[in-house]
Amino acid sequence: MVVKLCKKCLYPSNHPLGIIFDEDGICSGCLQHKEKKVINWQDRKKDLENLIDRTKFSNNNHYDCVVPVTGGKDSLFTAHYVKNELGLKPLFVTYNSHYNSLTGLYNIQKLQTDLGCDLISFNLNQSKAKEIARYSLKNYGNFHWLSLAGHSVFPVQIAVKFKIPLIIWGMHQGIEQVGMFSYMDGIQMNRQYRRDHDLFGLEPEDLLSKKSVSDKLKKELIKFNYPNRDYLEKIGLRGIYLNNYLNWDNRKMQEKIIKTYKYGTLNSNRALFPFEDSNNIFYSEVHDLFKFIKYGYGKVTDHLCQEIRFNRISRKEASELNDFYLRISPEKIETFCSWIKITKADFYQILEKFKNPNLFKNTTEKNINLLFGNSKQKIPSKLKKIISKLNIVSNIIYNEDESPISFKKTINID
Ligand SMILES: [Zn+2]
Repeated sequence: MVVKLCKKCLYPSNHPLGIIFDEDGICSGCLQHKEKKVINWQDRKKDLENLIDRTKFSNNNHYDCVVPVTGGKDSLFTAHYVKNELGLKPLFVTYNSHYNSLTGLYNIQKLQTDLGCDLISFNLNQSKAKEIARYSLKNYGNFHWLSLAGHSVFPVQIAVKFKIPLIIWGMHQGIEQVGMFSYMDGIQMNRQYRRDHDLFGLEPEDLLSKKSVSDKLKKELIKFNYPNRDYLEKIGLRGIYLNNYLNWDNRKMQEKIIKTYKYGTLNSNRALFPFEDSNNIFYSEVHDLFKFIKYGYGKVTDHLCQEIRFNRISRKEASELNDFYLRISPEKIETFCSWIKITKADFYQILEKFKNPNLFKNTTEKNINLLFGNSKQKIPSKLKKIISKLNIVSNIIYNEDESPISFKKTINID
């Protein structure tokens, strides 16, 4: 299968969320982006406020809604918007991946303090979480799967448990990246999307019948099951995405929040924006390497496609940055291997198993540097100039050379 790239952005035709190209070779994500310019966002915001009003006064709950938070990505903006702009009383829900950065833990605690909100955190036993991460890495080339499952289900379980009828998410990736739905569809959270896209077609329920999964792990996986439809209907639960109602500019929104509240950011040698995955020490390092090896693009491509669509960078300059970043080796492979308890040889063997034969020939440890370059590779001055024009906001608080963190150290926030 020949992989082709969009002529406007850099997304490939094998994008896992599904992408289509028009006769001019422009992808559905770029075409969808044009809709932003013609939508009356004032009207959409009113639609959101009406929807909120109906929900707000229809329950006697202490909380108006659940907001899933991670300490990074769009959750910082979403939490702020829900509390301060919409005037709601949110309950924050977070899932502990056990490979947190200190920055992420700081952000989440600061978020809770700044906004004066309550937070519920689900912490699976760490050794069980690692065992499942090992299983999903070996079998599906995705150690991050359990975190995605946890992040997408615990907010729903908590909403059901506390009878809170609304969950507010930030950005729907399928809409922003590949134009899966129109903004006008007002698409809401549903189990099918979680299964097909958030979880790459594999729900925890699917593993319960597999012989290769021990009974001990099955007992853990049951905790990640999606609540029965009857429970959702009983409280009229719905989950909405803010990007259907606001003129969503992911980078600008996140940067504004970083600047306003002084949240911390985290650099990665494979990504451009230091705020998006600041909560997670392995995501834009190791998980991104698997994304690249499977599909030929990475987190930096996601960042650059946004910038191209907002006309903040030319496709040519973006393409140069993309080629450079995608071929830098992650710095944390050894730390990751030690965390998940596999050898480096195992790691490269698994990487080899999931490589896309249309894109790569060999990725064994012996020649990995030929494919990916050095993890400490210096950014050429020509590329540095392009990056400086983007004026990317950064606020490094912690040196993250240490290992991933399960639970927070004592952090005092005034
Ligand atoms: Zn495109």
